[in-house]
Amino acid sequence: MPAGRIPFYALSREELASELAAAGFEKFRAKQVFDCVYSKKIFAPKAFPALPAKLAGFLGERFDFEPAKLVGDRKAGDETKKYLFALPDGNFVECVLLKAPAEDGKTRKTLCVSTQVGCACGCRFCASAMRGFVRNLTAGEIVAQALPFVERKILTSGRAEAKFEFENIVVMGMGEPLANFDNLSAALAVFNSPEKFGFGARRITVSTCGIADRLEKLAETGFPYRLAISLHGATDEVRSQIMPINKKYPLARLVAAAKKFSEKCGRMITLEYIMIENVNDSFAQARELAKIARTLHAHVNLIPYNRVESLPWRRSDAARRAAFAKILAEKGVSHTLRREKGSEIDAACGQLALKRKLEAGAGGGACGSAEAGETAKIPPETFFNCEKPCAGQSENGEQL
Ligand code: SF4
Repeated sequence: MPAGRIPFYALSREELASELAAAGFEKFRAKQVFDCVYSKKIFAPKAFPALPAKLAGFLGERFDFEPAKLVGDRKAGDETKKYLFALPDGNFVECVLLKAPAEDGKTRKTLCVSTQVGCACGCRFCASAMRGFVRNLTAGEIVAQALPFVERKILTSGRAEAKFEFENIVVMGMGEPLANFDNLSAALAVFNSPEKFGFGARRITVSTCGIADRLEKLAETGFPYRLAISLHGATDEVRSQIMPINKKYPLARLVAAAKKFSEKCGRMITLEYIMIENVNDSFAQARELAKIARTLHAHVNLIPYNRVESLPWRRSDAARRAAFAKILAEKGVSHTLRREKGSEIDAACGQLALKRKLEAGAGGGACGSAEAGETAKIPPETFFNCEKPCAGQSENGEQL
């Protein structure tokens, strides 16, 4: 963003009106601008209809409408597309748009967005973790990942309609969302606010690796969105092997925080559980997982592990996954068993990662980053190959 430009999406209509008035424009123009951006979903002032050219020029100079720029996309399969965004400082982030058939026969689309460049949490199954934390995304950079996905059509009434291509948002791309909480909250408010995109809170899911103290705070302050927790181990011994965050927030603390959250916020939590052969797929783990799920009244999403090259781990085979799920069923735990690998959707969302080190950013230990000015060095085939399954949808495509 050129120096001094104001992030547009963070502004309320009143704040925009004040900015316009201070620059000598009529205050009512703020309503017109909001209508263009949030109803008509036009994100370039020059394209705003019925706006004086002078005002459009001012808006473009004064405000930042494109905090992240779409620079590439890659189809991962029939139903999944991955997108690469360039940030003003030369870093990159990714998002994924995935489609899945729902039980009603309709196709449902979900957008999976990132909240950080890289990640500090170090989950062993996640390629993002291998390259460390670079920085938090701003609220605008999180919102910007949704902006290219607008469908436009003319209704039979002759009225033009613009709506997002996706029905659900999952925040489980690169980064730990709750570690960038202020910017996450501001971005979700832009999606959710009736004066802005008006996206229902129940259609937004935030996934965390288990930042227990943040969950405790959310239980006190309230959080309108759906919550998923990456569990992946049902005892401390097993979970700590997979997720180093467990040493800081052991299961007893995490489960207590999650219970407080679900009771105070009145929302069912989803527990994500990636099944890794001989690591976390024992029947004893299934029984422990069932206990946790019952304590939380949570839904469990069992997900086949996607191999990470540097790790010896393998996916639990189908028979083990089915037997594991059967134990959950016998214990009365609501669960879904994700589909067999081979579906590109399995590799679609989750915490995104760059599989190959981007040469430009490798020296800095950055996840998916390159130094400023090196955008042109990033060939499209190098970017992001998500190593993790998407936990944002169940086997039948339902939003979790
Ligand atoms: S899985 Fe999520 S929280 Fe864990 S290292 Fe990857 S991006 Fe971070």
